[in-house]
Amino acid sequence: MPEEILLMEVEQARQEILAQMRTLEPEQVPLLEALGRTLAEEIAAGADIPPFDNSAMDGYAVRAADVADATLEQPVALQVIATLAAGEAPGVAVQPQTAIRIMTGAPLPPGADAVVPFEDTDEGSAGAEHGRVRIASAVRSGANVRQAGEDVRRGEVVLRPGTVLRPAEIGLLASLGRPRVAATRRPRVAVIATGDELVDIDAPLGPGQIRNSNGYANAAQVLRYGGTPLLLPIARDTMTAVTARIEEGIARGADLFLTSGGVSVGDYDLVKRVLHDLGQIDFWRVRMQPGKPMAFGGIRGVPLIGLPGNPVSAMVVFEQFARPAIFKMLGRRRLRTPEIEATLLDDAKAYADRVRFLRAIVTVDVAGHWTARLTGPQGSGVLSSMVRANGLAIIPKHAGKVPAGTKVWVQMLEWPETE
Ligand code: AMP
Ligand code: MG
Repeated sequence: MPEEILLMEVEQARQEILAQMRTLEPEQVPLLEALGRTLAEEIAAGADIPPFDNSAMDGYAVRAADVADATLEQPVALQVIATLAAGEAPGVAVQPQTAIRIMTGAPLPPGADAVVPFEDTDEGSAGAEHGRVRIASAVRSGANVRQAGEDVRRGEVVLRPGTVLRPAEIGLLASLGRPRVAATRRPRVAVIATGDELVDIDAPLGPGQIRNSNGYANAAQVLRYGGTPLLLPIARDTMTAVTARIEEGIARGADLFLTSGGVSVGDYDLVKRVLHDLGQIDFWRVRMQPGKPMAFGGIRGVPLIGLPGNPVSAMVVFEQFARPAIFKMLGRRRLRTPEIEATLLDDAKAYADRVRFLRAIVTVDVAGHWTARLTGPQGSGVLSSMVRANGLAIIPKHAGKVPAGTKVWVQMLEWPETE
């Protein structure tokens, strides 16, 4: 092992990387394009929501006092003076002993202070008289009425900078009449797979060749976590090829470089030379499995994370470092992958010198017990066990044997995140 390779704990490596990441600038985007991004402005309501008192039910707008004595046996008859649909403005007021037939969402007419739902009237029944309605139940003032501002008050701060915009936030912004919103720009992430043995996914395989799966898996991770991937062509293991890809990424405005391969001892000198020529790069051996060797640095002000070549290592190292890096650029407050505690259903082996991330499928039973079952062989190249996993079970170093039944923390790769 070359001596300038630094040994690091996972958390230390993550902090070193995050310290070099900057939240990107905001940009005004059409509302729907803001989905999944973080809000870069404070949103105060310009008006009440709902903007006017309105009916929560289909029924009759009445004066509660008029029907105070109404019962099923002794209904109170009121004269129906109008019908009001949602979207209509009330033309007349409810006078004593009258009612207005009203639909859900229609503005509460003046004079009325409650709505009696159809179910508590003779609406539609054989005995219903033309122009009259029998009310079979008393209502309190305000019943079945949605008050103006009951959802959001004018002037209230409803969303703060850094909020991740989910469909509910998009809906709220729409209800406030915001066709555009300031959201943090998505990082452009250049993805470069290196290797003489690689061919692209639509090419036939020659002897000794394999397909470039990392480029696609890493680009998909970038996309999934909110970045814009720039999937560059495969770089051969030559200085000119790697240099050309880096130049291409710079020209296309990359905010972050992700390379895969070329960081293990065999390739180390080549990539090191290229990257040293172009910028400042350190090589790290992070105390984790899978994914020990990696690189980190910057090229002309653009950070670069050098992922290992093995397909699972590339994805797991991405999860530990590239995902929080992208989140920081996106202006997210929560950078860590959510973890839950689950009972391991299989025996596992801990390593003395590094934390292990084991591919696992986490489920919860009807009693609310979370369990984690390993998804198969844990070799760094076995993508199929990654496919079956929804989380990475964390096996701390020095833990000795980890028998089935042990409680472990699992990083959830699929988990709802709200901040
Ligand atoms: P390296 O770090 O370049 O020595 O690569 C380690 C292992 O990962 C080798 O078996 C490579 O063939 C494999 N590998 C490297 N890059 C890729 C890639 N883009 N797609 C699939 N496998 C890869
Ligand atoms: Mg290689």
